[in-house]
Amino acid sequence: MQPGADNGGMPDVTVVGSGPNGMAAAVTMARAGLTVEVFEREATIGGGARSLQLTLPGYLHDVGAAVHPMAFASPFFRSFELDRRVDFVVPEVSYAHPIGSGGGVAFHDLDRTAERLGVDGRAWRSLLRPLVDHIDDVTDFTGSQLLRIPRGPVTAARVGLRTIEQGTALWNTRFRGDFAAAMLSGVAAHSIGRMPSLPSAGVGLVLAAHAHARGWPIPVGGSQSIIDAMRDDLLAHGGVIHTGTDVSDVRDLPPAAVNLMDVAPRALASIGAGVLPDSYLRRMRSFRYGDGVAKVDFALNGPVPWTLPEARQAGTLHLGGDRAAIALAESEVAAGRHAADPYVLVSQPSLFDPSRAPATKHSLWAYIHVPRGSDRDPTADVIRMIERSAPGFRDLIEASTSMSAMQLEQYDPNLIGGDISIGALSLRQMVGRPVFSTRPWRTPRKGMYLASSATPPATGVHGLCGFYAARTALADVFNLPVPDLGISLR
Ligand SMILES: Cc1cc2nc3c(=O)[nH]c(=O)nc-3n(C[C@H](O)[C@H](O)[C@H](O)COP(=O)(O)OP(=O)(O)OC[C@H]3O[C@@H](n4cnc5c(N)ncnc54)[C@H](O)[C@@H]3O)c2cc1C
Repeated sequence: MQPGADNGGMPDVTVVGSGPNGMAAAVTMARAGLTVEVFEREATIGGGARSLQLTLPGYLHDVGAAVHPMAFASPFFRSFELDRRVDFVVPEVSYAHPIGSGGGVAFHDLDRTAERLGVDGRAWRSLLRPLVDHIDDVTDFTGSQLLRIPRGPVTAARVGLRTIEQGTALWNTRFRGDFAAAMLSGVAAHSIGRMPSLPSAGVGLVLAAHAHARGWPIPVGGSQSIIDAMRDDLLAHGGVIHTGTDVSDVRDLPPAAVNLMDVAPRALASIGAGVLPDSYLRRMRSFRYGDGVAKVDFALNGPVPWTLPEARQAGTLHLGGDRAAIALAESEVAAGRHAADPYVLVSQPSLFDPSRAPATKHSLWAYIHVPRGSDRDPTADVIRMIERSAPGFRDLIEASTSMSAMQLEQYDPNLIGGDISIGALSLRQMVGRPVFSTRPWRTPRKGMYLASSATPPATGVHGLCGFYAARTALADVFNLPVPDLGISLR
């Protein structure tokens, strides 16, 4: 089909959903010269990367993602030159992991991190240095489908061997003290699930490598700035965005040659029920979802008084104690129970970006892991866990607002039961996401593609799922190459 062919004023491409992947797909298609219309059910665009005033006037909160290890690493964002379009601050401390009155500190600088770890410094350095030095090969290997020939086979093998070490019973053979092991488990826990496991170890190693490579940058103006940069580019290339439009049947959309779906497989099975074959619908319905998160946003009267001094300069913190305590909390959630001392992920963006709170005040973002579908308010758990490492925190709270796992699903139907990854990160679903195929973004319906993080390379704000879906559609339907993207994307 020819782009721009006269099709009665109808778009060449429709996109359902304006999350990071929907927007990345839309930008890619529009830059190829195609007419694109995006349909979003909410009043504002952004999905898991929206920023809104959730507590008091003057405080800006990230509703979904706050931590951005892929902002400088994603090949899509790099070719889109996101760092030229959005101001980022890279914290000197990527993440801290308080334990008791001490704890581990992952500086952006790997050597400084290793020096501070003392007895485990060498082990930390030897684990991560080969990955940090070849971070683009790490991203190539983990930033698309796993089953293909990687650009850097040696680095891929190193990631694989380290994943086996840290994802199996061998995991306690490397470190002698508590801090390094806890730091690695703190990043591995981003994947939500039992530990040790290969998926959690893989996620942890890659996140830890990014922390020391390009850092974990914080977008000025919130995650919404990333979405707004894509919106501006889409509109500049003639795209149209319809908000407040909940698509329940794909046949209600304007007829278009390509339809990119930034939705969960369960929703695809419903929206596409009239056009997709039964076997594919069954596969979409049997796709498995992971456990959930429950989130709290705080408006604070001052910065959090962490006992660990470096934590006061950290963009991100992981709470929950040592490696064994985090593994216990994660196994409780996996067994369908609320952990007594849950793992907590904390981001303190207002330390780096004054637009997040009034002068001298601060905003704080935190979530805990909970069983999928939980309706429990996490506020008391989060305050208790932070108080342990920052006594006096409670007295700084001017306001807070929370979302249980089920409220997150109501906010964005992609987050089934509070699963922020749009699908469990099991080994099976890391490889066959959502189907075993060389082009898992393609559906059996000609011109229809799944573009959400239920496809490779899965969760996170990187735009790659949407980009790969769009690239597949460009080749399949329009016989077009990827537009205007300077660096080689495989
Ligand atoms: C609380 C929370 C914290 C997170 N923290 C981080 C983090 O710190 N770092 C990180 O990298 N990632 C984080 N994530 C994950 C990240 O936000 C997601 O991986 C990412 O947003 C997925 O993008 P997506 O475009 O695939 O889907 P989504 O972001 O879910 O976007 C889908 C969009 O489609 C819309 N939609 C769905 N169905 C329909 C329909 N039928 N009709 C019209 N519109 C529809 C939704 O309203 C939504 O806007 C977090 C997510 C959440 C929720």
